[in-house]
Amino acid sequence: MSARILVVDDIEANRRLLKAKLEAQYYTVLQAENGPQALAAAASEQPDIILLDVMMPGMDGYEVCRRLKANPATSFIPVVMVTALSDAEDRVRGLSAGAEDFLSKPVDDFALMSRVGALMRYNAVASELRQRHASGLGAGGAEEIAKEEADRPARIFIVDDNVRASARLATVLREAGHTAVTLAESGGMGDLSSTGVDILILSVTSKTFDALKICAHFKVSPSTRAISILLICDPDDRERAAKGLEIGASDVILTPVDRQELLARVRTQARRSRYIEMLRRRVDKGLELSVIDQLTGLYNRRYMMSQLRQLMQRSVMGGKPVSVMMADIDHFKTVNDTYGHDAGDEVLEEVANRLRENVRPMDVVCRPGGEEFLVIMPETPGDLACAAAERIRRAVAGEPFLIAGGEMNISITVSAGVSTIAGPDDTIADLTKRADLALYNAKTAGRNRVESIAA
Ligand code: GH3
Ligand code: MG
Ligand code: MG
Repeated sequence: MSARILVVDDIEANRRLLKAKLEAQYYTVLQAENGPQALAAAASEQPDIILLDVMMPGMDGYEVCRRLKANPATSFIPVVMVTALSDAEDRVRGLSAGAEDFLSKPVDDFALMSRVGALMRYNAVASELRQRHASGLGAGGAEEIAKEEADRPARIFIVDDNVRASARLATVLREAGHTAVTLAESGGMGDLSSTGVDILILSVTSKTFDALKICAHFKVSPSTRAISILLICDPDDRERAAKGLEIGASDVILTPVDRQELLARVRTQARRSRYIEMLRRRVDKGLELSVIDQLTGLYNRRYMMSQLRQLMQRSVMGGKPVSVMMADIDHFKTVNDTYGHDAGDEVLEEVANRLRENVRPMDVVCRPGGEEFLVIMPETPGDLACAAAERIRRAVAGEPFLIAGGEMNISITVSAGVSTIAGPDDTIADLTKRADLALYNAKTAGRNRVESIAA
């Protein structure tokens, strides 16, 4: 299922035009032609984004937006106001009604796709965190965020080799109460992760450095990944800006930079990064208690099920297969019987360590129970999953386990079964049943081996 966008406009030709543009980019488009219809569709269909016309007879776009934001069932769906008047005052009205973003009519393709793309990326992170939070602690509560906290001034670093342009931006931002530092003032990038910067404003047009490289660097490094990147680009440089958005920038502003637009986008970015920060903090706290297996520190069955659901869904949407490896310790009962239950526990911990050390960061390692482990491997076809499983098997069998502070030296092996998603109708039960069957085959074929079952 592709991302769904609700287009609200009283004029059919406008709706059709937006629908055509969005469908060309594989979005699914829902339509509403007035305020009440929009409110109903938003609540029942839960679209990912709402594009909302301002000028409509009866209930206008501002009112629709206010009502969407007041209803907990729709309040977190991002709203983009589509306005014929490119008046600054109009934009400010939209944002104070709670809209996340705005577009001017006639809607420009680049602006449309960059706005929608930025919101989709934000949605992906926020909904993942909301879901993790919900699976950990029960739904609710995650939505409220203290208003003062959300609108706290942002800390902004401006990187543009045009000294005058960046000084101008800094002045605008400071006048609005933000803290802004330019590259020229600071003399270098330094270590931005330690200075608490919220937003990096990066000029794509800069000649003396490669803005996209900086962007990529920021997004791969864990200490700077959370910093929102706002690109500034000349209309001629759109392609580079689009690339920047692809590799992780949050938003883009075209030159000449409009003061109101700059402040609105900075405010939106600051809110988003704080919202995500807040969700992440809650997730970290809740996660610890409710989804982590206490003995091994791996994810428990509950989290495993929620991740399987999400990752299988994502695989169907994105077209890349997800595989699972189910592993079981061989003759573990004998280990317990020979060395004692505590030694058995230590063996479980060490198996967990070796699993963790031998998977990719995106893989999800779980202990659903007992001496059974399951690794979810997103974006992994069967043959690669088998290779990974084989690597894990060797990592366990290759070195004996030193238990009880080195007093005991035990050889441990695991058997593993691998299965891969078979199609859109494949269920969690189907997928794990095939892995289980493959594991059974590995056991009967002599243990310490990997088997797989094709769909
Ligand atoms: P196989 O090779 O067929 O898997 O044989 P096995 O002995 O590993 O399998 P079996 O299912 O007969 O025994 C599993 C044992 O794992 C029995 C159970 O007491 C033990 N076990 C399950 N959970 C724990 C745990 O948390 N700690 C310890 N120490 N043992 C556990
Ligand atoms: Mg209209
Ligand atoms: Mg066993």
